[in-house]
Amino acid sequence: MKFSEFKYVRLDIKFINEKQIELTNKVNSATTFEETCLAIDEANKMGRDLSTMINISYIRSSINVEDKFYDEERNFLDQNLPLLGETSSNLSKAILESKFIKQLKEKYPPQYFTLSEFDLKCFKPEIVADLQEENRLSTAYSKIIASAQINFDGNNYTLSQLSPFTVSSDRVTRERAIQARVSFYQAHEDEIDKIYDDMVKVRTTIAHKLGYKNFTELGYVRMHRSDYNEEDIKVLRKGVVEYVVPLATKLYEAQAKRLGLDHLRYFDEKYEFKSGNPTPKGDAAWMVGNAKKMYSELSPETGKFFKFMVDHELMDLVSRKGKESGGYCTFIDNYKSPFIFSNFNGTAGDVDVLTHEAGHAFQCYSSQDIDISGLVFPTNESAEIHSMSMEFFTWPWMNLFFKEEVDKYKYSHLGSAITFIPYGTLVDHFQHEVYNNPDMTPLERKATWRRLEKIYQPHKDYQGCDFYDRGGWWFQQHHIFNSPFYYIDYVLAQTCALEFWKKSQDDFKNAWKDYLLLCKQGGKYSFLKLVDIAKLDSPFTEDCLKDVVADIEKWLFSVDQSSF
Ligand code: ZN
Repeated sequence: MKFSEFKYVRLDIKFINEKQIELTNKVNSATTFEETCLAIDEANKMGRDLSTMINISYIRSSINVEDKFYDEERNFLDQNLPLLGETSSNLSKAILESKFIKQLKEKYPPQYFTLSEFDLKCFKPEIVADLQEENRLSTAYSKIIASAQINFDGNNYTLSQLSPFTVSSDRVTRERAIQARVSFYQAHEDEIDKIYDDMVKVRTTIAHKLGYKNFTELGYVRMHRSDYNEEDIKVLRKGVVEYVVPLATKLYEAQAKRLGLDHLRYFDEKYEFKSGNPTPKGDAAWMVGNAKKMYSELSPETGKFFKFMVDHELMDLVSRKGKESGGYCTFIDNYKSPFIFSNFNGTAGDVDVLTHEAGHAFQCYSSQDIDISGLVFPTNESAEIHSMSMEFFTWPWMNLFFKEEVDKYKYSHLGSAITFIPYGTLVDHFQHEVYNNPDMTPLERKATWRRLEKIYQPHKDYQGCDFYDRGGWWFQQHHIFNSPFYYIDYVLAQTCALEFWKKSQDDFKNAWKDYLLLCKQGGKYSFLKLVDIAKLDSPFTEDCLKDVVADIEKWLFSVDQSSF
């Protein structure tokens, strides 16, 4: 069946609520283990049906926002899904409190219970009004960002429309474009400061009402982090500062040299190559053809997977009018089908879709037999290992896409993984400081950012830009506002992906075998258990980054950059 033939029917919210109550009663009154399992299996089947319909409706409305039917269905779901919250958490509670819990934990994957436990730990009816306030503040921040109309050389641009000018080959244009962006944030500085201050206060209140010391603790629970804590993150930070920051600094120095500059200023950083960024050498159909060849040569499993995606029309890749922006990969349970959505625009990002999003898709395709909907994908830091590692496992085929620019692509790809890690760690460290000290003033928060920035990004030269120099850079990082504590997930996954890069350089066949095994686990386990199954070093061990960074440095500096 092709995606267009997948059947959609509107969910019957009243029926699902009644069913969840009935199943809760069954779990509570069950006199045998088998009876309990029957109720749980029925609940899981309902979870699959629910997620199937939500995904079909979401995909169909995002590939055509003008489709009135699916637009209405999406609105219906937005308004009605929250109504399932109470009966659903009662059911989870009943399962966790079942007198057969010990046997249940032997039958179902451990993560099944962890996720429910953690969800219950994030909620009490007393915090409903605070949660609404938190959402209101998130929306307020997003609205300011979306409303930006920045005048540049006589035309008005949104923040993303302004981006191409900020990487212009003309240095003066770059500087002026970034200044224009900065003026926008400066014009809204008091407003954004106030929103964030209110966010920190309300999140701290929520944490206290739920019995946590501060929001940092609750942040970890919200992210379903069951096997690491702030102390582990501190070990990671140490490795980042000791091994990654020095290499990142060297990469920026090499960039300055390539560009013929004495050193990089704040508006030069994103302008990597005089000859422009590497681009794919053909259109979408050509790229999909190459991807088909690539995946069939990579392994029998990936060959079968990508053929499945093409045959069942499970990818909507090209940008067109009426399509939502961005990209994602999701999984439609009842059809055991991943789906990839993207907006190709002729940049290297298009190839990333065919490796990164396809990495996500390959993982859920590989774990399609896990019949608990919430466990097909693991938690974020683990899910991004699959996608970021696939970007590296497909390196031997990148010449198909980039032809004569393949070396530049690989250099830029691996180099940006290195420069990202200190930045990602900085974003996370900053949030720890903020939520561990909720009474800081906006001024103190900016000073904190600037202090940490000097540790993680010592190359930054903000001379001539007062706003950045006062510590205002983070105003642009929407995760800090809308997805607290999310960001370190990218760092953890990137670290694991770099380990796979190293392994694939040393022994491709064995590295691939470990990766394949990891993909099949889906979300049955927590992060560190998955890392262990994949035979990777935990990013929370002292030397994890040391070895891998040494190899990366050797590789990067063996590349001839003279033609870049
Ligand atoms: Zn991803």
